[in-house]
Parts: sequence; structure tokens; C-alpha cells
Amino acid sequence: MKILLTDINNKNHVFTLEESIRLPGEGVGLKADIRAKLSFSQQKDDAISLRGDLKARVISSCGRCGTPVQVDIEQNFQYQLLLDEEPQVETDYECTDEDCELLYLAEPLIESSDILLEQLLLALPVQMICDTACIGLCDQCGINLNKEKCSCREINQNSPFAILKEL
Ligand SMILES: [Zn+2]
Ligand SMILES: [Zn+2]
Repeated sequence: MKILLTDINNKNHVFTLEESIRLPGEGVGLKADIRAKLSFSQQKDDAISLRGDLKARVISSCGRCGTPVQVDIEQNFQYQLLLDEEPQVETDYECTDEDCELLYLAEPLIESSDILLEQLLLALPVQMICDTACIGLCDQCGINLNKEKCSCREINQNSPFAILKEL
């Protein structure tokens, strides 16, 4: 959803959004159903503060075995939107909050899914796994070792890793 910032004044403007985002990526990628609340309020002529929170249900695939994984995420965030070209040098603009991010906008327009996607990616675990105990796929035959056994390991008994198992 595109939000036009020229209508924002110093009152709180709250937008409640529901968006579905699909990220094609390595493996199956991910799909997220997001519910978010964005509140904008103007602070100066060219500065608008944006506070938001999002809740998302993310469906992706296990980084080890590839089975579908579902994670629920909640994230709060804050941006300072500056209606200006990004300066070449550091400016003296500072966010009051440490977690606040500066965002320069050449046009007084913001695409909510860009913000939501950025925050979603920040909130996601580095690797989505189905279970901390997931042992993944056999690197030889590709079988899902959580469900089935294969004989590849026995063949590799003489590999240096076999000794580690004895310890
Ligand atoms: Zn897994
Ligand atoms: Zn195998």
C-alpha cells in the first residue's frame, strides 16, 4: 500500500494493514501474512516519525531438511522519515531512540510493504529449522534422516568423522 505523506500533520495518523508477502528465494523461499499498524506523525516540516508494529505468520522451509516450517513473529519498530535527498555527508539529524532508523525519501510517498519486508527480515531467525534436533538430509542420497535411515553412513565408517562418533 502506498501512503502519501503530504497528508500527515502533527496528529497521529494510524494505518492498519494486512499484507501478504512472498519472497522467492533459496529453497522454497517464504510466504508471510502480515498484520501491521503504522502510525505517522509530523515532527518538523520535513520530518515525520513512524512507529509500527507487525505480527506475521511466516511459512518457509527448514534449512536442514526442507520440510515446511511456520513461525510467528512480532516486531516493533520506529523510523524517522526525512523528506529530502540523502545527503552525501552525515547530518546532525538524530533519532531520539537508539533503535530508530533514518529513512530519506526523495518523494513524500512510502510503500508500506518495503518497510514491512525490511522489518520482517530483521525479525526472522537466521535459519529457519523445523526442530533444533533436526538432522537434515543425507548429503549422499538426499533422504530425510528424521524419517528414514539410509546406509550411506555405514559406508563412510572410515571417514575421519567416524572417530568423532566413538568419543
Ligand atoms: Zn528439518
Ligand atoms: Zn544416504
